[in-house]
Amino acid sequence: MERVVLITGASRGIGAATARLAAARGWSVAVNYTANEEAAQQVVEAVKAAGRRATAVQADVADERQVVRMFEQVDSQLGRLTDLVNNAGVVDVAARVDEMSGERLQRMFGINVIGSILCAREAVRRMSTRHGGSGGAIVNVSSAASRLGSPAQYVDYAAAKGAIDAFTLGLAKEVAAEGIRVNAVRPGLIETDIHASGGIPDRVKQLAHHVPMQRGGTADEVAQAIVWLLSPEASYTTMSLLDVSGGR
Ligand code: NAD
Repeated sequence: MERVVLITGASRGIGAATARLAAARGWSVAVNYTANEEAAQQVVEAVKAAGRRATAVQADVADERQVVRMFEQVDSQLGRLTDLVNNAGVVDVAARVDEMSGERLQRMFGINVIGSILCAREAVRRMSTRHGGSGGAIVNVSSAASRLGSPAQYVDYAAAKGAIDAFTLGLAKEVAAEGIRVNAVRPGLIETDIHASGGIPDRVKQLAHHVPMQRGGTADEVAQAIVWLLSPEASYTTMSLLDVSGGR
């Protein structure tokens, strides 16, 4: 059976690395993006160059109507979905909790938490044997912040990723008998553009000495773990939270 993987936030970073590795495994890939269509198309071209089918699908994962439309586009362009990677995520600039606006909190939970749950809902509606599907796998991209509590002024982000961990555990149990495995990866400090959006572009360099392995990780190193969790090699692995954090 052909594997069709939807990866949210896949125009760059960990999502783009996962798309390339999925293609190398022989899977077709739907590349979700919000604004940067050109970057998403480059990822699509890389998947196609590996001989697989690919399409770019635009959606803000926090917007229910856009999420529903995105899954319908994947159905019509690539066929029935077999795998989902809930990778889209945001971090905001460093701030103490007494400085956080309600708008910031709505956005943080809207994208990181509600976006992941909406996408998982659409995926389960397609993959579950209850709905005539033939099973599948979901990987949620959490963060080491969920268990570290992210003391460096990102408690909203840590709380959102803590919610992702709880969601992963609960959903895994809920759909295990319907042929769907659900796991999460918890990256540590990874060299991607997310740190610039958090206002500290050289954050990985600054904090690398806190990592037992004494370095930041790469997007590829996280993608390897995601692709393994999706793969048949992980056929008895569900409900696990896999740290990819150099020991942090
Ligand atoms: P990144 O900023 O390069 O990637 C995040 C992606 O999510 C981007 O493509 C962005 O466009 C997309 N995105 C943001 N809002 C979206 C929305 N509303 N709808 C759809 N897509 C949206 O950073 P990354 O490091 O590759 O992040 C990928 C995931 O890894 C995120 O969930 C992040 O929280 C998590 N993570 C990253 C690190 C790290 O150190 N880089 C550590 C732990 C967890």
